[in-house]
Amino acid sequence: MTAYFSQQLRIPGPTTVPARVAAAEARPMINHRGPEFAELLKSVVDGVKWALSTPNEVLLLPASGSGALESAVVNLLSPGETTLFASCGAFGSRWIEMGRRYGADVIELAMPWGQPIEAEDVAAILDEHPDINVVFATHNETSTGVMSDIGAIAKVVHERGKILAADSVSGAGCVPLPTGDHAPDVVLTASQKGWMAPPGVAMAVVNERAMDKAKVATMPRWYFDWAQMRTLQNNGQTPTTPAVSILFALAEGIAMMREEGMEGVYARHAHVAAMTQAGASALGYSLFAREGFRSHTVTALSHDGTPEQLSALLGSVRTKHGIVLAGGQAKLKGSVFRIGHLGAVTPADIVVCLSALEAELIAQGKSITRGTAAAAALEAREQVPALASRVG
Ligand SMILES: *Cc1c(COP(=O)(O)O)cnc(C)c1O
Repeated sequence: MTAYFSQQLRIPGPTTVPARVAAAEARPMINHRGPEFAELLKSVVDGVKWALSTPNEVLLLPASGSGALESAVVNLLSPGETTLFASCGAFGSRWIEMGRRYGADVIELAMPWGQPIEAEDVAAILDEHPDINVVFATHNETSTGVMSDIGAIAKVVHERGKILAADSVSGAGCVPLPTGDHAPDVVLTASQKGWMAPPGVAMAVVNERAMDKAKVATMPRWYFDWAQMRTLQNNGQTPTTPAVSILFALAEGIAMMREEGMEGVYARHAHVAAMTQAGASALGYSLFAREGFRSHTVTALSHDGTPEQLSALLGSVRTKHGIVLAGGQAKLKGSVFRIGHLGAVTPADIVVCLSALEAELIAQGKSITRGTAAAAALEAREQVPALASRVG
């Protein structure tokens, strides 16, 4: 068994925590009602605004990403309110379930897994149901490796005067989000995905239209009440005891992003995605996500063998090479596996990961020429323009 400290996490979160981020997390505790905390809070809020190029309110929740999704449900809706949830995978299904349990009248647009959410389908449902005020949609669906065109979705939602909340838990900070008129009104993300920090802080990035909707929305809420959070945050505090250590870590992760620059961060994710797609294809895998909508942060591969063979493959990649890949979620368990490439990941990490996968496929009896995956990945790297915002 490989010691955990030498493992490379190629799962789509939690992601690798760089040493300097871990060191920041280990700082002595501070008073969460004192001036040091106010400074920390401001640096994280300003950093997230900078990274996402947004003037919107950044609310920091002591939660995992699902807490951010739940906060959008309880702040934007009233019981019985008709609302649209557009989903294309396991995290979209989770959000729908939250909406239902809180008593919203949920209209579901559920795309087949592997396909993106399309703006025209959202538009058609909004035209049919003018009483819908809020649309919930997944930007980057981590279970299928699909990245939907959230700007196109925002456009049709905004043209109809409605509000869009986007689950970009595994996209924000890694891929550019639309800014200006076609920016989602609410963007949700979490510390352990692209932000290079441990799990524990979720972020809800909320504009004034959405804050205004929250004023009239009557779902019961306390822990995730955005208005209460905003009031306290503006005074350098949070309503409850925050995840102080994770905020130290997040501030350091953002400092690293500032050093690299967001264009560099986006280009790096475009590169590692193209490399992973090319290497996996060269190994004979078909990619689960539809071409043109493949995520820059996670790649889902369709596995032809039995679930037992897949589990043996992932097991030997982990124990022999110290590389941890992710299995399939929900109905994709046993037939799909995923390579996470977000946060602190380099092109060289991808070459190593694909080479380990290749070695274990060869060990399982597949006839593959050694070096195939690495060669394909390195070649793909050369072909991606430095600042590509999307890789097909
Ligand atoms: C990780 C993730 C979430 C939230 O998961 P948590 O385990 O609660 O942090 C939600 N949506 C997407 C797309 C994700 O990748």
